[in-house]
Amino acid sequence: MDLLYRETLNQGARKVNARNEFIYETDTNNRTVIPYNKDWKRLLIQVSGGLDSALLLYLTARAFKELNLSVEILPFSIEIPTKAKNLASARKVIEVVSGLVGYEKIAKGIEVVMPEEDCKPPRKDAFFDRLLSDMLRNGEVDFEFSGNTKNPPESARSEFPNDHARQLARDARTSVYNADVSASPHAMNDKQGIVYLYQKFGILDSLATHTLSCDMDIAKIEELNLEIPCGRCWWCYERAWGFKANNLEDPALAK
Ligand SMILES: [Zn+2]
Repeated sequence: MDLLYRETLNQGARKVNARNEFIYETDTNNRTVIPYNKDWKRLLIQVSGGLDSALLLYLTARAFKELNLSVEILPFSIEIPTKAKNLASARKVIEVVSGLVGYEKIAKGIEVVMPEEDCKPPRKDAFFDRLLSDMLRNGEVDFEFSGNTKNPPESARSEFPNDHARQLARDARTSVYNADVSASPHAMNDKQGIVYLYQKFGILDSLATHTLSCDMDIAKIEELNLEIPCGRCWWCYERAWGFKANNLEDPALAK
């Protein structure tokens, strides 16, 4: 038993364990695991404006406040000019989370616009990795979080018409850690669990409303004359499943 303490609140089961992880459990045996260290000066969190990273920022700030840490949280957002997702959602998410949690140490976010020539994979990932590793190596930040989740179970994905477009590495993660100084705290949680935590903390209307998960190219949206969110990219199907699995409507679609 490695728990320092465990408490169950009506806002969700949470526990802090001896490995310095603050854990949020879901009703489907998934969990979001927030590593922490009181000696960190600054933690970078990738905030895309999507559902997952918005919750990650919220849960991290909430955990740090409860743990009485004074670690600065630095939101980090990238504008990819070819994508529907944009900095407006990320900015709104940071503003709303700061107001909701009241953790004093959420810094003004860093925003980077990705050059057009770097917008396609694999250059897209390389651009991002280079920026992050520079900041970690220079000591500007001590650790970094990304909001990557686990993929939905196969039984749910089999209903998606475009499931081949998923990120395969997310099918079977066994740890939230990516490297010594990098973690994806939602890696053992899926969209059903993400939406569950939004509901448990009562932040569907205040926070989820402002998020955008669509990853369709703007050019494609215009070509097909679609709305944003497009409703047909893999990420739109994943998000729709997350709400449906909790018998909830997506508040962002009701706007
Ligand atoms: Zn979409």
